[in-house]
Amino acid sequence: MVEKIVMSLLILVTFAAFGRRIRELVGFLRLGAPDDRQPRSLGRKLKDQIVVVLGQRKLLQWTVPGVMHFFIFWGFVILFTTIFEGFGAVFQEGFHIPLIGKWGVLGALQDFFIVAVIAGIITAFVIRRLQHPGRFRGSHSKEAEYILWAILGIMITILLTRGALISLDHFPYDVRWTPVSDAAASLFEPFSLEVREAIDTVFLWWHSLIILAFLVYITYSKHLHIVTSTFNVLFTSERPKGALKPMHIDMDAMTEDDRFGAGVITDLTWKQLLDGMTCTECGRCQSQCPAWNTGKPLSPKLLIMDLRDALFEQGPALLKAQKNGDGDYKQLLENLPPLNPEVVEDEVIWDCTTCGACVQACPVNIEHIDSIIDMRRNLVMTESRFPREMQSALQNMENTGNPWGQPPSARLEWTKGTSKQEPLQIPHVSENPDAEALLWVGCAGAFDDRNKKVTYDFAKLLQIAGVNFAILGGDESCTGDPARRMGAEYIYQMLAEQNIEVLKEHEVKTIITACPHCFNTLFNEYPQFGGVFEVVHHTEYLARLVKEGRLQPKGELAKSITYHDPCYNARHNDVWKGAREVIESIPGTSYQELHRHGHSTFCCGAGGGRMWMEEHMGKKMNVERTDEALASASETLAVGCPYCNIMLADGIQERHADEQMNVRDVAQLLLASIETPDQEPAEVTEANP
Ligand code: SF4
Ligand code: SF4
Repeated sequence: MVEKIVMSLLILVTFAAFGRRIRELVGFLRLGAPDDRQPRSLGRKLKDQIVVVLGQRKLLQWTVPGVMHFFIFWGFVILFTTIFEGFGAVFQEGFHIPLIGKWGVLGALQDFFIVAVIAGIITAFVIRRLQHPGRFRGSHSKEAEYILWAILGIMITILLTRGALISLDHFPYDVRWTPVSDAAASLFEPFSLEVREAIDTVFLWWHSLIILAFLVYITYSKHLHIVTSTFNVLFTSERPKGALKPMHIDMDAMTEDDRFGAGVITDLTWKQLLDGMTCTECGRCQSQCPAWNTGKPLSPKLLIMDLRDALFEQGPALLKAQKNGDGDYKQLLENLPPLNPEVVEDEVIWDCTTCGACVQACPVNIEHIDSIIDMRRNLVMTESRFPREMQSALQNMENTGNPWGQPPSARLEWTKGTSKQEPLQIPHVSENPDAEALLWVGCAGAFDDRNKKVTYDFAKLLQIAGVNFAILGGDESCTGDPARRMGAEYIYQMLAEQNIEVLKEHEVKTIITACPHCFNTLFNEYPQFGGVFEVVHHTEYLARLVKEGRLQPKGELAKSITYHDPCYNARHNDVWKGAREVIESIPGTSYQELHRHGHSTFCCGAGGGRMWMEEHMGKKMNVERTDEALASASETLAVGCPYCNIMLADGIQERHADEQMNVRDVAQLLLASIETPDQEPAEVTEANP
C-alpha cells in the first residue's frame, strides 16, 4: 500500500514539474513575433509526420548514425508499452495492458527493441568517444552522454525487470516470443522466491525513478526535441524551398525609427524560437555548411544554439515583466541586448551564402536561413551596418537597376558577340508579342564578359532550334536576388515590383533564363508580389530541345567532363537532370560526377549576395570547390550558373590550373558540338577572358 502511495505522489510531482516547464516554454514561444504559418494541409501534414518523424527520412541520409537513431526512436515508441507495464506492475501484481498486453508479437517487438536500443546506444558512444566527428564541435557533449547513460539505464532495468517477472511467473507474455527476456530470467534461477521478489521490486523502482527523472530532465536539455520536433515539422514552411520569408514594408510610411528584421530576441517569430528549442545539436548542418568547412566562424548549429540560449536566458525575466504589466514589459523590451553582435557576431551573419545545405541536412526541419536573413534585414535596414564592399552593389542596384552599375542601354552589348562572331538580331518583346518565351538575360549575363559569351551562345542555340523568343533589353532590371539576400528588402521589393509590372505589361507567360538566382527569384519569390510566370532554367530547356530533336549535337568533344550543380538549381529547386542529359547527349564525352553533387552540391561561394563581399577568413569557398573539381581529373568543368562560372574560373586561375581544366557553361558545350561537322572533333568557344 505504502509503495502505491509513494509512486502515486512521485508521478503527480513529476507531471506537475513537467507541466510547469511546458507552460513556461509555451510562454517563451509567445514572446516571439507573429508568424501566420498554419499547420500543413492534412495530407501533407500526415505525409511529413510519417516520412520525417516516423520514417526518420532525413536522419537515414546518414547511414550509421541514421540507423542508430531510427532504432532509438522506434525503441522509445515501442518500449513505451513496457513503461506502462512497469508502472502498472507497481499497482497490480501480474499487470498487463488491456487487449494487447498478452500478445506475443508485442512481447517479441519489445525484446527486439531492447536489444536494438542497447546496440544503438553503444554505437552512439563509439561515434562520440572514438570517432569524434567534427559535427559535434560546440555541442553539449556531456549532456548528450548523460542522456545516453539514462537510456541505457532504462533498457537494462527493463530487461532485468522482465527477467525477474519471468522467474516469478508474473510475466504476461509467452516466453517463446521473448527469448532475450527469457535469457535474463536465467540470471535469477539461483535465488529463492523471496530474493527474486526483492530483486524485482528494486529493478522496478529503479526503472520507474529513471523514467520520471528523465521526463523532467528532457524539458531542460537538448532532448527537448523529443517533445518539440513533431510540432517543428508540422509547422515547417510551405514556401518553395528557395523562397525567402516575405516581409511587409510600407515604403511610403517608412520612418527613421522603424525597426526591421530581427534586432532582439523578441523580433524572431515564435517558429524561429521553436527552431531553437528543437535543435538536437547533432551538427549535421554544421558538417555541410560551406562557410564552416572553409574555416569561417559561421556554424548554423552554433547560431541556432546561441539564439536558443539567449531565449532561455532572457525569457524568464520577460515573462515576469509581462505579469507585472505593460510598463515593466515595455521597459525591458527597450533594454534587451541586440542579437548582433551580443548573441551572434556580425561576421557570422555575413558569412552565409544561403546555399540551403543546413536546412536540407537538418533532421527536424529547422530553417536557419530565415533567422540569418532576418538579422541581416535588421543590420542593413535598421542599423545601416554591413560589410563595406556591399555598399556599391546596393547603391548600383538602387540607382541603375543592376549591381554592376552599368546603364540599361549596355544590356544589349552581348548580342554583338566577339570580333569573330556575327551580331545576333533578337526582337524586343514589344516587337514580338507572339514570342513563345522571353529570354531573361540577368545582370551577369548582360554585363560580365565571361557570361556575355554564354548568353550569346545560348541565344544562338535558341535560334538554331527555331524557338520564337524575345528579350526585354534595357527594360530588364536585376531581379533583386542579391539585394534581398543581403537584407536590403526595400531595394528588392522596388526591383521586383518594377520587373513584374514590365512582364505583365508585355503579357509574358514563359521565361527562360541561364541564371539559377534569377530563376529562383522569378519563379519562387515573384508570386509573393503577384507575379506568376512559368520559368525554366536553360539547362532544362536545352535538354527538352535536344530530346525533341530540335538541337542535334554531332561533333565529338572527346573530353572528360564533370558538372558543378548550382545550389539554387539542385538544392533549392530540384533542377539537376537537364544539365546531365545535355552533356551526355554530346558524342565522345566521358562524364563523371563530383564527389559532392546534386542535392549535396558544395556552394561556389557567391550566393546570398556574397558575390559582392570579400572572404576575409579561412580558405576561399571557390578554391575549395575548384580543388574538388581538379581532383576529378576532368578536362572540363561544366557549369549552369553565371556566378559559379565566374567563381570557379577564378578558382582555376588561383590554382594556376588553366592548362589542366577549363570552365564552360553547358550551353557552350552543346553549341560547340552542334556547330561542328559530323565526326569532327569540336572546338569549344573560347570563353576564358
Ligand atoms: S545556408 Fe549554407 S552557408 Fe548559410 S548557414 Fe546554411 S549551410 Fe551555411
Ligand atoms: S540545426 Fe538541425 S542539423 Fe543543425 S544541429 Fe540542430 S538539429 Fe542538427
